Amino acid sequence: MKKFSYTFSTKTTQFYFDADFSFAEKLVGKGNTVLITDENIFNAHKKKFTGWSTIVLNPGEEYKIQDTVNEVIDQLISFEADRNTFLVGIGGGVVTDLTGYAAAVYMRGIPFGFIPTSILAMVDAAIGGKNGVDVGVYKNIVGTIRQPEFLLYDFSFLKSLPEGEWINGFAEIIKHACIKDAGIFKLLETKKIKYFQKDRKALAALIKKNVQIKASVVQQDEFEKGERRLLNFGHTLGHAIENVYELSHGEAIAIGMTVASRISNQLNGFKEWERVLNLLHQYGLPTDAEFDKKKTLEVLRMDKKKANGAMNYVLLEKIGKGVVQQIPLQKLEELINQL
Ligand code: ADP
Ligand code: ZN
Repeated sequence: MKKFSYTFSTKTTQFYFDADFSFAEKLVGKGNTVLITDENIFNAHKKKFTGWSTIVLNPGEEYKIQDTVNEVIDQLISFEADRNTFLVGIGGGVVTDLTGYAAAVYMRGIPFGFIPTSILAMVDAAIGGKNGVDVGVYKNIVGTIRQPEFLLYDFSFLKSLPEGEWINGFAEIIKHACIKDAGIFKLLETKKIKYFQKDRKALAALIKKNVQIKASVVQQDEFEKGERRLLNFGHTLGHAIENVYELSHGEAIAIGMTVASRISNQLNGFKEWERVLNLLHQYGLPTDAEFDKKKTLEVLRMDKKKANGAMNYVLLEKIGKGVVQQIPLQKLEELINQL
């Protein structure tokens, strides 16, 4: 196990990297802790949960809604959880989001930690303190920014991770490479997902680099005034089409990254846009942008990143360097209609 930490505005979060789940008992006692997970993870790793008070949720993004938060709160009350109770979310991004959000509002805030079990949660969703729920087609439109006490990485959870979820996670890894790290981009170009599935050491090294990218961007700009916006690469359009078309998050942002790369080429002469498309393809992600443009533009108009009739759009200057650029909504409409 390797231990490191990141200090955010109001909290230092401990990272226990390449640790064993059993270490959680040293961090938080079984007596005053409630674990939150979903059925898939619970069924695949039942033994790990023995002796812990556990809330088992329905799996899937469609349950990342306020109703589920209410269910969690009911169960916390039935466990007689109080201000000293520790919540630990064990799962993918849906579980960690719901856990962080419920912890923020239950009794006006109780401490929480995460054990991410999907690649996506390990490199992205569980880091940075943004936790929330969806309302209708609007993703993450309600939520909080509050940092967890700890993150514990136990790679043995990945044995049961479905193939499609590996691909989803690699979409965020490619995102990090595009905006911040040409070296990772080049490494990814020489490999395929299989390589990282088979070589645990290579996987751990890749995940660690991605944890560092995400955590240091958040550390510089926790409340998304500037730098953190880069992490939205592919997400503006991605979020607009994800729930409308019931795409996986990875598929949606892959299409979003495709569109952003092409817009980068059009507006800023970003010549390497095809390398991005090829890499997405190499990792099993879609690059064809077939979506209802009118419907999508309607959802885009509601985006949180919109201000004064313009959109903060993340583009690439080159591989490994993302930039935030204001694009007037009208211009964006033109660009998207031209695709
Ligand atoms: P995210 O992609 O943000 O991590 P979810 O929390 O919805 O989103 O996780 C994606 C899917 O993968 C869910 O169906 C979840 O139950 C499943 N899952 C996550 N981690 C594991 C795991 N280690 N083993 C089996 N299934 C998992
Ligand atoms: Zn994402």
